[in-house]
Amino acid sequence: MAEVRVVDLRSDTVTRPTDGMRAAMAAAEVGDDVYAEDPTVNALQERVATMFGHEAALFTPTGSMANQIGLQLLVPRGEELLCDADAHVVTYEIGAAAALGGISTRTWPAVAAEIDVEAVAAMVRPAGYHAVPTRAIAVEQTHNRGGGAVLPLSTLEGLRRVADTAELFLHCDGARIWHAHIADGVPLQTYGRLFDTVSVCLSKGLGAPIGSLVMGSAERIEHARLLRKRLGGGMRQVGVLAAAGDYALTHHLARLADDHARARRLAEALAPCGIVDAARVRTNVVPLDLTKCAIDAPTLGALARERGVLVSVLGPRVGRLLTHLDVDDAGIERAIEVLTGLLT
Ligand SMILES: *Cc1c(COP(=O)(O)O)cnc(C)c1O
Repeated sequence: MAEVRVVDLRSDTVTRPTDGMRAAMAAAEVGDDVYAEDPTVNALQERVATMFGHEAALFTPTGSMANQIGLQLLVPRGEELLCDADAHVVTYEIGAAAALGGISTRTWPAVAAEIDVEAVAAMVRPAGYHAVPTRAIAVEQTHNRGGGAVLPLSTLEGLRRVADTAELFLHCDGARIWHAHIADGVPLQTYGRLFDTVSVCLSKGLGAPIGSLVMGSAERIEHARLLRKRLGGGMRQVGVLAAAGDYALTHHLARLADDHARARRLAEALAPCGIVDAARVRTNVVPLDLTKCAIDAPTLGALARERGVLVSVLGPRVGRLLTHLDVDDAGIERAIEVLTGLLT
């Protein structure tokens, strides 16, 4: 019997290392990274910091840890972070800012890429002995729950001005900032100079099995080493993983354009079913809105799964598809055939 290949569109985290990546991992020189003696980790950290024009970067096991270290570097205990209500740092990091960082968070309504910079400025609390001191603003590029939306550079520059005026810091959750760079052509250094701390993931669209980095000034990243160890993220001969990330940056960054084109193909093919606003699909995320459909999201998910297509079910009427390294054109056509068949 011919092997039936499952088309897994649930997330871009499901990719498996390629043969080339595994070869790079096997060949990696390693050392004890808690002593900062792993040459492959050190090289990756330098490479990524340089890409964003930051002084230093630190390798972490997850994006959540990179974000939380970034926030702890900027916001002292008992002080306040502003972000949108759908931000990964407040929805998907299990309350870590509060539980581990003692950070108070206040959110503005989630509007993905349409941030009202003036409204954010108005949220900053006045200095004095009454209010929680506002210390930092966090944004997400691209925006995960915002359907992979790309924040316009002008919005980010506006937030930087707000931060400078109010003497706040700016953190970017850049788990998918690579996608924004490829979609909008904004240089990574242009993004980098706008933020005091930036986190990036190697294990999403770039296809590494594990790994994120947090970057900032040399002084901050020196302190980040201590915070990472406290969080249990001090790793040893981790160059085998850094080598995967280094390989991903060399071989899998430019090809994100293919993932974006495939997401657009999916969106345009599914638009007639009334579940996708194709004009809003800019990167590798295709949000599905099933409010006007005969079937709900869990039913669509279950029926598609029986047919070898995996869809993310986020709510009774909300689903999501993500394109990535392990889905080719044939997989996309298969998914379109299965999903349009179930929806029409
Ligand atoms: C995936 C992701 C992260 C990091 O998630 P981990 O699972 O902790 O690596 C952070 N921010 C966003 C927006 C993400 O999509």
